[in-house]
Amino acid sequence: MNATMADEILSFTVPTPFLVGPVNCFLIKGDAVTLVDTGPRTSRAKEVLVSQLKDHGFSLEDVDQVILTHHHPDHIGLAGLMREMGKNVLGHWKNDRWLEMKDSFLQEHEMFMRGIYQSAGVHDRFLHHVHDVKEYLSFTDRATCDVHLTEGDEVPGCKGWKVIETPGHAQSHISLLHEQTGTMIAGDHLIKNISSNPILEPPYNGEPNRPKPLLQQRESYYKTLELAPSFVYTGHGDPIEDVEVLIKDRLRQQEERAKKVGALLKQEPLTAFQVCQKLFPGIYKKQIGLTLSETIGQLDYLQSEGMITQVKSGEVDLYRHQ
Ligand SMILES: [Zn+2]
Repeated sequence: MNATMADEILSFTVPTPFLVGPVNCFLIKGDAVTLVDTGPRTSRAKEVLVSQLKDHGFSLEDVDQVILTHHHPDHIGLAGLMREMGKNVLGHWKNDRWLEMKDSFLQEHEMFMRGIYQSAGVHDRFLHHVHDVKEYLSFTDRATCDVHLTEGDEVPGCKGWKVIETPGHAQSHISLLHEQTGTMIAGDHLIKNISSNPILEPPYNGEPNRPKPLLQQRESYYKTLELAPSFVYTGHGDPIEDVEVLIKDRLRQQEERAKKVGALLKQEPLTAFQVCQKLFPGIYKKQIGLTLSETIGQLDYLQSEGMITQVKSGEVDLYRHQ
């Protein structure tokens, strides 16, 4: 890694109450002192963040602005607090509905998930999970983005850092790239030891169709391959140095899983829930949201490759091999 970058970036590890474990937050010491991601809204996370900042001679007051890589609570929990302290919050506009947490959006989200569960043929006993998002959001404060960042923007106050849109894990996801040194802060777009899930979200702006997060994730991977960063700070765990190897691995693993789904559908037409049960036996009972998102992602992929078709059977969608 370039020595100048090491001087410019501090990395903190903050505990979360989530399965994924601790989250990484970063401080870019540019013209503006910029905190990238905040950790969840828990007193323990705040305590740890403050104490790690202090170890490096900084306090929360010294932070000029906060950038959000994406809207998940382990990354944005203290955005509301930072705004109350007068700091600007920067992020993609697709964070807004999650930061604002309006009742109308929570209802829209619930309706969307209900529709997904219904057409996937999910068993009724899992239906209460359509409310999971509310518990999840209890680890964040209401906030808003003061500045919207989009593809190609230079990060204000951070000379040489560019915004790269990397949707897939979240619709709002951005990564930050320092082109000159090839250093990237990738949030959960790339994680070294686990492959980050493509997660289903309702469409934006009343669009008729939902986004296809696994296809977006693949595009974001290809885009990153082209940008060829040499050192990637990630949202969880260690940084990545063999970026190309890791991305190609992720693409291959996904294609292998898709092959498995294709083989299942060759035997018989199945609903998304049936595929999910076969793909994630046991696990699906504990993590229906994530496993179903991943499964539907694989089905989107196979459909985009023209390998399977989707037909309505009553309320439910059946997938069959071509
Ligand atoms: Zn995360």
